[in-house]
Amino acid sequence: MTNPAVENLVIIGSGPAGYTAAIYAARANLKPVVFEGFQAGGLPGGQLMTTTEVENFPGFPEGITGPELMDRMKAQAERWGAELYTEDVIAVDLSQRPFTVRSEEREFKTNSIVIATGATAKRLGLPDEHQFWSRGISACAICDGATPIFHRAKLAVIGAGDSAAEESIYLTKYGDEVHMLVRGDKMRASKAMQDRVLNNPKITVHWNTEAVDVFGNEKHMEGLLIRNNKTGEESKLEVRGLFYAIGHNPNTSLFKGQLELDDVGYIVTKHGSVETSVEGVFAAGDVQDHEYRQAITAAGSGCMGAMLAERWLSVNG
Ligand code: FAD
Repeated sequence: MTNPAVENLVIIGSGPAGYTAAIYAARANLKPVVFEGFQAGGLPGGQLMTTTEVENFPGFPEGITGPELMDRMKAQAERWGAELYTEDVIAVDLSQRPFTVRSEEREFKTNSIVIATGATAKRLGLPDEHQFWSRGISACAICDGATPIFHRAKLAVIGAGDSAAEESIYLTKYGDEVHMLVRGDKMRASKAMQDRVLNNPKITVHWNTEAVDVFGNEKHMEGLLIRNNKTGEESKLEVRGLFYAIGHNPNTSLFKGQLELDDVGYIVTKHGSVETSVEGVFAAGDVQDHEYRQAITAAGSGCMGAMLAERWLSVNG
């Protein structure tokens, strides 16, 4: 179904970036249309729908569950009149104005767009990974490292880049031992980061080492089966927590060839802004941020997206 009217703003995504953009745009009377998507287990709300406690979002001193935080953001967007559709966008046309945004069910013409489609943390796909996800396995040390079960525990980090090095160092604040598993015989992290890792007495680097599987009891993980890929030797590493730092896949396949993307596929935005390579199209949250990747930074950039869209529409809408 094509809606003949031209919308002011279509927002794609329903994580903290998408809903925050929706709240600001609705309050600015732009009557935004939001395609929430349903990629996180069939539900809108983005990555935080897959976690339990969120302890670092300001305003919730006792913590709040990820799904409750997202329900509240959604309710706030609805309260101010955002028009929500729990549908995935399947195509966009940014080559002519007004832009076109299409799902299986409907199509909108719009003068501006905020893209907030997020990113997906890469997983290793270990046989028992699913069983221990959020019960020992995490893709975010900053989010989960301070959890009491990791205090004074043995922890492992998988990865060889700057993020893996940074997360290993960060986790030494909590864990007694941090074991960094590196698949090859060198790290990709910067020299300065490598030095910090190698000089930290709490960190042990296991070179040429891969995880084979994870094991534990019915409540939480207890360790990893690891293999030295040079000798083939397998051994057990008893750790209470496992942190993946093997990268993210930004959800940008819809925009390939239409917007400037970096080597990994993140949307390129102007420094200090959320403007993309196409005027009137803004990108907020993890889809354009490979550095901070936090709910609060995603929400902040969603706010920027809505405010910049409003400014842009006041001249071009
Ligand atoms: P996302 O939350 O990734 O949302 C993207 C949205 O876009 C989703 O709604 C998705 O359905 C939608 N979408 C994608 N493609 C389409 C499409 N084609 N059409 C329509 N919609 C689409 N951060 C913290 O600050 N604190 C924490 O404690 C914390 N814990 C975390 C725990 C876990 C397990 C994970 C995975 C992440 C955690 N994070 C945490 C990180 C935080 O979740 C992200 O930084 C944040 O969700 C990014 O928000 P976003 O809006 O950019 O994208």
